[in-house]
Amino acid sequence: MSQPKPTPSEIGHAIRNVPDFPKPGIQFKDITPVLADARLFSGTIELLTERFKPGTVDTVVGIDARGFIFAAAAAVRLQAGFVPVRKKGKLPYRTHEQDYALEYGSATIAIHVDALRPGSRVLLIDDLLATGGTAAAAAALVHRLGANILEISFLIELSFLKGRDKLTGYPVRSLVVY
Ligand code: AMP
Repeated sequence: MSQPKPTPSEIGHAIRNVPDFPKPGIQFKDITPVLADARLFSGTIELLTERFKPGTVDTVVGIDARGFIFAAAAAVRLQAGFVPVRKKGKLPYRTHEQDYALEYGSATIAIHVDALRPGSRVLLIDDLLATGGTAAAAAALVHRLGANILEISFLIELSFLKGRDKLTGYPVRSLVVY
């Protein structure tokens, strides 16, 4: 018999809070216990993709680095392609770049110039929405290639940081909200 699907709250209970990582004052949300549990991991992917039928998303775009884990698995489930948005200097071919501010520090992310077809239907995924700077920068890169964002999905949202305010105009969904 197949095991029961996990609820978002069960997934939330498996996320480990690590205080003061990587710096004092940061409450780091560690998703590795979710990944290590087969039922929780596959249930998370099911919950992240349940609003879309296979064939209705062309590409799942994942954000460096933990976003890759969820986006790649979601792409397989949706029979879609996977495209990485990476930190500057990691992608080998020609890129578009976008600067952004993080909850801790600042950075630049990049996408290959030929990664997405104009008009293609994109689901954008990252592990966690904090201030929203990373996801907003990734969304700008997707737009720069002329693709359409159907939804931006996160496993975790730190709602007190109001990241959604940087993502107005997109459907935004998160499974576990703090
Ligand atoms: P932001 O641009 O502020 O929304 O930050 C989101 C990005 O930073 C995501 O890619 C997360 O992986 C990472 N991140 C930010 N804050 C945390 C946190 N408290 N715990 C784990 N990851 C975080």
